[in-house]
Amino acid sequence: MPYKEDRATWYEGQGLWADVPASDWNSWGWQLRNRITTLEQLERYLTPTREERAGILFAKQKLSLAITPYFFNLIDRDDPDCPIRKQVIPRAGEMQLAEEEMLDSLGEDEHSPVPGLVHRYPDRVLFLVTDRCASYCRYCTRSRMVSNAQHYDFHPQHEAALAYIAAHPEVRDVLLSGGDPLLLSDGKLDMLLGRLRAIPHVEFIRIGSRIPVFLPQRVTPELCEIFKKHGPIWMSIHVNHPRECTQALKDACERLAFAGVPLGNQSVLLRGINDDPEVMKALVHRLLRMRVRPYYIYQMDLITGGAHFKADVRRGIEIIEALRGHTTGYAVPQYVIDAPGGGGKVPINPEYLDKITDEEVVFHNFEGRRFRYPLKSTPLVGARVPDEAAPQKPVSEPERVAEPIAEPVSV
Ligand SMILES: *Cc1c(COP(=O)(O)O)cnc(C)c1O
Ligand code: SF4
Repeated sequence: MPYKEDRATWYEGQGLWADVPASDWNSWGWQLRNRITTLEQLERYLTPTREERAGILFAKQKLSLAITPYFFNLIDRDDPDCPIRKQVIPRAGEMQLAEEEMLDSLGEDEHSPVPGLVHRYPDRVLFLVTDRCASYCRYCTRSRMVSNAQHYDFHPQHEAALAYIAAHPEVRDVLLSGGDPLLLSDGKLDMLLGRLRAIPHVEFIRIGSRIPVFLPQRVTPELCEIFKKHGPIWMSIHVNHPRECTQALKDACERLAFAGVPLGNQSVLLRGINDDPEVMKALVHRLLRMRVRPYYIYQMDLITGGAHFKADVRRGIEIIEALRGHTTGYAVPQYVIDAPGGGGKVPINPEYLDKITDEEVVFHNFEGRRFRYPLKSTPLVGARVPDEAAPQKPVSEPERVAEPIAEPVSV
């Protein structure tokens, strides 16, 4: 059945936690302290399937379980296939390893001159500032280190990373990620952003964060002031399904946008969650309504125990085909595969080009209609060539007729 939603409504309210005072609910500290992190806590709110029970027990040695009450409310507790549920509640599939999978599937550790700083591209670095998140995505690319369930023991070395960036004038773009940078305190973020801004060759600073989605309460006016002070700071949020687009997320995006933070979105293509053109179309439309520009759709990285999430690349291409031309150009993200082993992000997009020669380009549009664009110019036989020596007649300006200006009317 095609995905259907009520476009006029935005989920809001405290759901299962209706009895909690609003001051607690709206406090990010309260949300973090009251996360669901154990099987026992989860069982208070829903009945886990056998698959989930096994996955939760295994999570302790793979990637911790943690779900904020705010995000838990978005789960359909009667549907084991709920697209929100599958993102954050572990399933037995996590125990299933496949030959092609790797702990560090993007070869990040090899490209790290300083622990937590990945310098893969010529002009930009990825700066991992923490290994903690507000909730944990079961398909996380950095499962090896995030939440420290695998005893990776990541200790961010902020000073060493800052020193490396300062010593490398080719680094003009710094991307703060992790873990989730917005779990750092305001003071720490203020310091990091200020120190980066003070490096003259750092032109572009951005933050990758899922906090607006898991914990919109963290996007406080004080935090927005810090972004304003050190701006422009760009931000990529991470929304996978239209049901994550709530009133609280929309409000958080508005606070960020009003603080001058341009917003993009990164989604991961996940089997049975969002590998569907109708779901993705609903998502990108909601994103635009929240002032967020869809940036990337990622093919899932080859992380250990991730096979149950892996979508078919042809589905991804089909999704872009269903968007391009059929809807607002701003709504169409780039579909990319982050090359296994560490080759960077490579666009995998539908092909519109049919043929290209010295004479012409042949291509088709979103409806499948074919077009030809000539590359060689063919002069018309017998056409008059303008005589450059002939005196030019002065072109008189058309006479302007002054429009009467309406007098302001006072009521
Ligand atoms: C994704 C990524 C970036 C940023 O890539 P953009 O295409 O500029 O968004 C930078 N460094 C690393 C290591 C990355 O994985
Ligand atoms: S928020 Fe990002 S870093 Fe954290 S678990 Fe999810 S995907 Fe991984």
